[in-house]
Amino acid sequence: MTCEYKKQLRDYLEEKLPPEAAAALEAHLASCPECQAELDRLAEGEAALNLLREPLEVPDEVVVGRIKARRAGLRRITVYGVLGFLLGLFSRFYTRDPFIVTKALMALPYKLAQFGLEPFFKKNVLPPRRWLPQGVSGGMGFFPYNPLLDFLATLFTPALVAAFGAMVIGYLVSDRRVFLRRGVVRFLAGAAVVFLLWTGVLGALYAQTEARIARLDGIQEITVWAVEEGGGARWLARLDRDAFRQPPYDQLLAGLQAARPAGPQAYPEGRAGLELMLSFAGGGRIPAHVDPETRKMVLFNGTGYQLSPETIALLGKPGEVKAK
Ligand SMILES: [Zn+2]
Repeated sequence: MTCEYKKQLRDYLEEKLPPEAAAALEAHLASCPECQAELDRLAEGEAALNLLREPLEVPDEVVVGRIKARRAGLRRITVYGVLGFLLGLFSRFYTRDPFIVTKALMALPYKLAQFGLEPFFKKNVLPPRRWLPQGVSGGMGFFPYNPLLDFLATLFTPALVAAFGAMVIGYLVSDRRVFLRRGVVRFLAGAAVVFLLWTGVLGALYAQTEARIARLDGIQEITVWAVEEGGGARWLARLDRDAFRQPPYDQLLAGLQAARPAGPQAYPEGRAGLELMLSFAGGGRIPAHVDPETRKMVLFNGTGYQLSPETIALLGKPGEVKAK
């Protein structure tokens, strides 16, 4: 009569059994000589295959002890990783912490995240001297025309970094001898892949935002100010989706999308004209300057457009409408 646990022994040695099944098997092993003998046989085979210079007689307790230690270690590393991730979510609040110890510790994932993202997104950062409406450039400033994306990058990248760091600590405080080098290498490679995927997703979403902005496609709100020469701005109107549904503003979006690209231009900062804040569906947002006389519109990223007289007239209207 063959013991029914015998079938599980190979999976157990290869650590493919779920934790509950492994624990049940361990309890059974203590009282079943048949399974003990089989485990010895399999463990010797494994040792020979791995070319380990261990004695061929591996006591069951050693094999079982090693597998138990590894399981406990993996559990610890997982818990550390989850806790690290949760703590990392708060990292961005500590960059200006007056208390140096918590600042150094808690802000570290944020700083490392910034350092890690920089090679990919540095070109997105706007020069600091430039005036920016509030909220356009977010925490790290890597996605200036998509504050939502910048917020997500600022929130989750430090969490990923902190989770990785905590898992490494979890590994270091565990019995490291029980971990296979293969597993460690796989973990490090996995962490690198996760980080690259994350930056890839951020980059792709931002490229999409930039493309939408360049096409002036998906505008869902426009705020209009009148700017006087040398500064001083007067709020004119906020045109939202409701406004765009009825005349005369139903023509405005069509007019903007039909605008003729006029190549890169310097943003006419502080020049008289209209200042717009274009908000796009999906999180994009960018300031634009309109010169009613030359009918030139320049986005904050330097993209120029030539608007039709009808479109200019519509943009000039909000003030009159509101005044009535
Ligand atoms: Zn048995």
